[in-house]
Amino acid sequence: MKKRLTCPCGVYVRGTDEDDLVEKVRQHLGERHPDHEYSRDEILFMAY
Ligand SMILES: [Zn+2]
Repeated sequence: MKKRLTCPCGVYVRGTDEDDLVEKVRQHLGERHPDHEYSRDEILFMAY
């Protein structure tokens, strides 16, 4: 299961599971990258 993602801006995001990771990444995107929106699949594609 993928639970980690490093944003291109260098921020490391870690979740307890995929749902939590997607939620946290969306939160980060909303705060730092409001002009970028990614689907769950895209987020999980970048995760590891
Ligand atoms: Zn970022």
